[in-house]
Amino acid sequence: MLLAPPLCWGCEGPARLGELLCLRCRGRLHRLAPDPIWLCGVRVWAPVAYSGPARALVSALKFRGAVGVASAMAAQIAANAPPWLLAGVTLVPVPLHPRRLRSRGYNQAAAIAAALADRTGRPVADCLARRGPPVTQVGRHRAERRAGPAGSIEIRADRSPGHGLAPPPARVLLVDDVVTTGATLAACQNALREAGTSEFGAVVFARTLGR
Ligand SMILES: [Zn+2]
Repeated sequence: MLLAPPLCWGCEGPARLGELLCLRCRGRLHRLAPDPIWLCGVRVWAPVAYSGPARALVSALKFRGAVGVASAMAAQIAANAPPWLLAGVTLVPVPLHPRRLRSRGYNQAAAIAAALADRTGRPVADCLARRGPPVTQVGRHRAERRAGPAGSIEIRADRSPGHGLAPPPARVLLVDDVVTTGATLAACQNALREAGTSEFGAVVFARTLGR
């Protein structure tokens, strides 16, 4: 884990020690309404829009290996989410394709889920896995992206060695860094529903607007 540098991730100007964004960039975060919205049949809540400094933080978490950024994202979620959204849920990170996990070294959704668990006391179940060919979202046609995520999502087969598949948690809150169409969240929700989960929601750090 890297320590956050004393530079703003948004504008590379000076930031206070321990702060990821300078005051100006924090003010530029586009905060969203407190109510969840529905995307592809999933109830999704995000504290900020995927734009400006929020975009810089997401890219820092994904591509620069700054796992510490996850803690700041979890803080935004924990401080602003409606309390009922987090009550009684088990946090389930959206899985990363194994090939991408190997190249990146960690799943950014799992990093946010772990940091959110620290702040809320909710348990984490890393019970989903991604299978099939890892096709990057970039360059896929919009219709394909809407149709579903690259590869398929299923309950992790190694959850309960020797005892078959353990049932997934009854109340699940999916966790990811960014949501665009909601297709990946819907695939996660479908896999969990087939396995017996009955209540769903999702929190993400940032949501793409204008769709
Ligand atoms: Zn800044």
